[in-house]
Amino acid sequence: MAVAFMLLECSNASMFAQNQTVDLALPTDNDALFRGDGPGFYQVIERDYKGVKSTPWEGGQYGFVRDPIETPEGIVYTRFHEGIDIRPLQRDARGEPLDQVRAIADGKVAHANLVAGYSNYGKYIVIEHRWDGSSYYSLYAHLSAIVVHPGQTVRRGEAIAVMGYTGAGLNQARAHVHLELNLMLSHQFESWYDAFHKNDPNHHGIYNGVNLAGLDIGRLYLALRKNPSLPIPEFIAEEETFYKVTLPKSRHFELPKLYPWMLTGAAGARTPSWEVSFARSGLPLKIEPSSRRVTQPELSYVKKSSIDYSYLTQDKIAGHGENAHLTEVGQILMKLLIYPD
Ligand SMILES: [Zn+2]
Repeated sequence: MAVAFMLLECSNASMFAQNQTVDLALPTDNDALFRGDGPGFYQVIERDYKGVKSTPWEGGQYGFVRDPIETPEGIVYTRFHEGIDIRPLQRDARGEPLDQVRAIADGKVAHANLVAGYSNYGKYIVIEHRWDGSSYYSLYAHLSAIVVHPGQTVRRGEAIAVMGYTGAGLNQARAHVHLELNLMLSHQFESWYDAFHKNDPNHHGIYNGVNLAGLDIGRLYLALRKNPSLPIPEFIAEEETFYKVTLPKSRHFELPKLYPWMLTGAAGARTPSWEVSFARSGLPLKIEPSSRRVTQPELSYVKKSSIDYSYLTQDKIAGHGENAHLTEVGQILMKLLIYPD
């Protein structure tokens, strides 16, 4: 009896999770990424730079690829694109995209937004994946139809939706699926959001984009092709630290519990604070004990630049050169990590 029970437990566990390897499929039939064909893979954006209009495919990539401005140091792309925009391969006679969108890995549907107007993502789905004990969240946006529901278990490659162009600023010509792979910042997100964004209701629970930090999924696909056993922590370790923030010690600080691999140094150290390293995108990379005493989140390092930090960090950090500090936006966002402290 006990043996039978244990076997059942094991088969249940293998249904959803503890995969050691991150076996990612592309979400549509478009695999031009693997042939190095950027224009064939990425959907273009519409750019108007100083009155000059263009449609660069590069704007569909992950990273700071949008909203260029001219600075004394040259052109700086100020807007971060948290995912990748994949172009359709099939359209009907009226030009409607037909591409099936599929789960990129085994997981569980965590959230489905069926009301396009609730988000600039339009209709979108979030799927939770478990790899090595941590949860990661793939997000598929601008869908026209959704064929799965929250709570449903899905397999890698299983159909979940049809590509579309729902959401702000899109038209039929620019139809695409926007794909992200995220870490979650905090399960206290909803109460934090209500405290700081009273006038703008949150329709997405803890799956609001503000609470999800996207990693470089384009680079991840290519890295996994080279090394199929590459674990996510190793992949993230290659990201450059752009800034560090010291947080007062708090029992509500969830990141080290959600992503224990981020923790370095003496885990049980009785130090008064934590220092969190971030990529320029805002993706958390590393957590270290710190002896610095702080009562609220404080910027403790930023990679030196003569460009205004607000252009480089989407206004999370202000100042330039040696003079840098968290903006109010940055300060509020950092409070999410230890909310409600
Ligand atoms: Zn996008």
